[in-house]
This record gives sequence, structure tokens and C-alpha cells, in this order.
Amino acid sequence: MERDEELLLAVLNSEPVIDGLVSDHLDGDPGERFAHRWGGTGSDAEREGLRRVREALHAAIRESSADPLSAVSDIVSTAVKVPQVTSEGLSWRLEAPADFVLSMETIAAWSSVLTRHPGRLRPCANAECNLFLIDRSRPGTAKWCSMAACGNRMKARAYADRARSQDGRRTD
Ligand SMILES: [Zn+2]
Repeated sequence: MERDEELLLAVLNSEPVIDGLVSDHLDGDPGERFAHRWGGTGSDAEREGLRRVREALHAAIRESSADPLSAVSDIVSTAVKVPQVTSEGLSWRLEAPADFVLSMETIAAWSSVLTRHPGRLRPCANAECNLFLIDRSRPGTAKWCSMAACGNRMKARAYADRARSQDGRRTD
């Protein structure tokens, strides 16, 4: 997986539902470690920005909107692209205030994934799960954040539902 895809999924999936409760991996010490792991400052301002970006991207992926990132336009507007001339030609480096670099990298990753893998970034099909996936399957039919976490659980539930309804038919 490309680094930007890993970062995007790490931020999108930093608010998992554990035992029915939403837990925020950007909170407290784990949140600081999360930021440092990705080269961030770990400051409160950075993690607050990341939280807002996460919320905006969750909404953008779940509901299509004409202006999906309007809620974080103050962060987006701090970034500039700086040209770099090398022997291989021109490349562009993203620059933003230190506390917003990680947020901007996450937004850039989201945008790039939409272009590189159109229609492949989606929420997990388990309505009780708050995770997202980039579907890399050839037919594009992946539904679960992971087979282990949600795929097997949902399949077991569907099987139990089927078994129950068959029992129901038999007793009718
Ligand atoms: Zn899931």
C-alpha cells in the first residue's frame, strides 16, 4: 500500500467502535503517538485539525456533497504547493503550517485515492462499524473493513438469520 493510502485509512479509521462504544485514537497519549508515527507534531492543535478533517472526510465519503470539505476550508487554505526543480524536471511540494501538514497530507491522499481508485473508497458495510476501506479486489465488490473483523461476523449473522427464518417456516 502507498504511504498516502495508509495515512488516509489510519486517519479515517482512528475512531473505531469497540464493544459498542466509539473510541477516539486521536485522544491523549495514543493520539500523540499516532501523530508522531506519521511525522506530525502531536500538538493539541494538530490533533484538533485532524479530528475535523476526519469528520469532514467521513461525511464526504458517506454522503456525496458539492462542497465536501467546506468545514475545513480554513485548514485547506493554509496550504501552498511549492515548485521544486530537479534534474528530472518539476515536482510540487505541499507546504502548510506545521500543525496542519498531516491534515493536508490526509486531504491530499483522499483526493488522490478518488482519482487513482474511483469508487473504491467506501465505508464498511457493517452499519455498526465506523471503519473505511479501499477496495482492491478485482471485481470491486469488497464490503468489509476486514474479513476478520466484520466479514466473518456479518456472514455468521446472516447465516443465523437464515437458520432462524427456516426454523420459523418449519413451525408455521
Ligand atoms: Zn467493519
